[in-house]
Amino acid sequence: MAATAYDPNNIFAKILRGELPAHKVYETDKVLAFMDIMPRADGHVLVIPKTAARNLLDINPDDLADLAKASQFVAKGVKRAMAADGLTVQQFNESAGGQVVFHIHVHILPRWTGVALRPHTGAMENQDVLAKHAATIRSALEAMQAGG
Ligand code: 5GP
Repeated sequence: MAATAYDPNNIFAKILRGELPAHKVYETDKVLAFMDIMPRADGHVLVIPKTAARNLLDINPDDLADLAKASQFVAKGVKRAMAADGLTVQQFNESAGGQVVFHIHVHILPRWTGVALRPHTGAMENQDVLAKHAATIRSALEAMQAGG
C-alpha cells in the first residue's frame, strides 16, 4: 500500500512554525522537545524532528538518527529532573499503531516504582503544572549541556 502523505497542517508542524504554543524544554537546529499536553505521567515530554516526517515508516534514516540521539539526551534530563526510577519510551505508527498526531514523535515517560501510567490522550494538564515541569526539565538539560 502507498505511504500516506505528510500533512503540513498537523499540530506539531504548527508548534514548529510557532503557530501554536508549547512548553519547550530543548531545541536544536534538528529537533524540538516539549511537554505533552495530556501527560501520561508528570514530566511526559515529546521529542520531534524539525524535518517533515509522518512516522518511522517515512523518516529519512539520518533524521531518525538525530531524533534518537536527541531522545537519549532528553530522556536522561527528564529522569534526572523528575527524580524518576526509570523511563518508558514510546513511538506510535499510523492509526492502527496508536498514532494520533502525524508528525513523528518520541514519548519520554518518567516512571516511578509502583506508579501506573495514566491513559493515552486522557486529561489535559493544568498549564501552570506543565510550565513548572518544563522549567525543571530545562534546568536539568542545561546543566547536562554545561557538563554537569
Ligand atoms: P500519538 O500520536 O503518539 O498517539 O499521541 C500524540 C500525543 O500528542 C499525545 O500524547 C497527546 O497528548 C499529545 N498532544 C496532542 N495534541 C497536543 C498539543 O496540541 N500539544 C502538545 N504539547 N501535545 C499534544
